[in-house]
Amino acid sequence: MSKNHKKTTKRYTKHRGKAPAAAGIRPSKSLGQNFLIDEGIIETIVAGSGIGKDTLVIEIGPGTGALTLPMAERAGRVVAVELDERMIPGLRVKTYSLGNVEIIHDDILKVDLKSLIRENLEKYDLNEVRIVGNLPYYITTPIIMKLLETGTGAASITAMMQKEVGDRIAAEPGTKLSGAITYSVHYYADVTEITDVGRECFYPVPKVDSVVLRLDIRDECPVRVEDEDLFFRCIKAGFSQRRKTILNSLMSMGGYEKSEIAGALAAAGIEPERRAESLNMEEFARLADSLRGGSN
Ligand code: SAM
Repeated sequence: MSKNHKKTTKRYTKHRGKAPAAAGIRPSKSLGQNFLIDEGIIETIVAGSGIGKDTLVIEIGPGTGALTLPMAERAGRVVAVELDERMIPGLRVKTYSLGNVEIIHDDILKVDLKSLIRENLEKYDLNEVRIVGNLPYYITTPIIMKLLETGTGAASITAMMQKEVGDRIAAEPGTKLSGAITYSVHYYADVTEITDVGRECFYPVPKVDSVVLRLDIRDECPVRVEDEDLFFRCIKAGFSQRRKTILNSLMSMGGYEKSEIAGALAAAGIEPERRAESLNMEEFARLADSLRGGSN
């Protein structure tokens, strides 16, 4: 028996036979492939995502189908988007007999989600959409931002992500842990933590722990701003150099003199030496509105 063969056998045994679900397919690090192998966590995610018989589920990165199959049992329909073509045949075989699963071979960042959702809701007479995924961690932020900014009409996004990123997203805007993504997510959604997930719940075992968050999309944003784009540009610039004062970090936006930014901060009642992380959502909104007023 070769050394390599011995190694593989040992690894599979350690995971009590779960790994052969992807037998013959070597997990790809660059695609963020860490497959869920803990039945309890799978059940917690599916139950926590709020799906029912009237739900169209859009799944991001089904992998070997750990979430796809239990979700299909509860949902009206599951449309799962997977980038790795090696996964596609196995997923189609596993889900064929369920009759309510479609596997799409594509990049979630390139898919026209609005059309995909509209067509499925109409064709299958379903009335709500929920997005679920154990996300590929290398593109967590772009995926979440795409889902929020596209206006998919989804009621919620339930997503597993690296614990550190999840803690930032779940933080209250205006607190030490917050970052630009905190404000973007809280602008669009209410955030609830479903569960922490230890690294031992995956195959192969990743270097980090994870968390599952549910983002319930708000009917109304918590602040009103005159120019959403400017509001988000202020936040991004504020956090681009988070150790600098808000006055200095806003200079990276370009297009404004320092005196204009100082004037806008004063008009918004914000001391120029504060740091971005100390500004709450209302203060960023006032700042963006003042800057806009000043530029008219
Ligand atoms: N859902 C499975 C599970 O929980 O075991 C797999 C989760 S794994 C962390 C992430 C999955 O996303 C992998 O199957 C990977 O191939 C897929 N993926 C990576 N990048 C993607 C992309 N841009 N679009 C769609 N799927 C992607």
